[in-house]
Amino acid sequence: MGQRIALYPASFDALTNGHLDIIRRAAALFDKVIVAVARNMEKQPLFSVAERLQMLRELTADIPNVEIADYDGLTIEFAKKIGAQFIIRGLRFVSDFEYELQLALMNLELDGNIETIFMVPSVKYSFLSSRIVKEVASLGGDVSEFVPPLVEKRLREKLKPNK
Ligand code: ADP
Repeated sequence: MGQRIALYPASFDALTNGHLDIIRRAAALFDKVIVAVARNMEKQPLFSVAERLQMLRELTADIPNVEIADYDGLTIEFAKKIGAQFIIRGLRFVSDFEYELQLALMNLELDGNIETIFMVPSVKYSFLSSRIVKEVASLGGDVSEFVPPLVEKRLREKLKPNK
């Protein structure tokens, strides 16, 4: 098969320790992991794509086989374009299961050669979502256990009330 390349697509708005946990686990398993920001996944993002890419780059700089990218359109088309044979998705508690299964089955229909691989994060990140982190941070809550210090700082800057 040559190089085993995996694509980990998500919105990463904002990047959490759950995402990073999946990235590290995937990097240990594949020759190369392309972590890609899906441009069209969320309608009203908190962070711009450029901001998300910059945070991802900085926070994965110590993992040599991880590359950061962004894409528009179908994930499966992007996977083909970059030569990825695998798509990584993280599975949290039951909430992800139904949607992720549908997505994986649809992607199999679209291209039967690209395998979806589900990875499970450490239990302490299994309840974490970007949406919850943004909600808590916007209400002034402490999210330092859930996101890297850089993301916490950016969240605070973004959500600073206008004076
Ligand atoms: P969210 O669903 O938190 O808004 P994204 O859309 O950026 O995040 O993430 C999509 C992908 O990342 C999915 O595969 C999702 O299961 C995975 N993911 C997100 N948060 C976590 C987490 N805490 N642990 C494991 N996987 C996660």
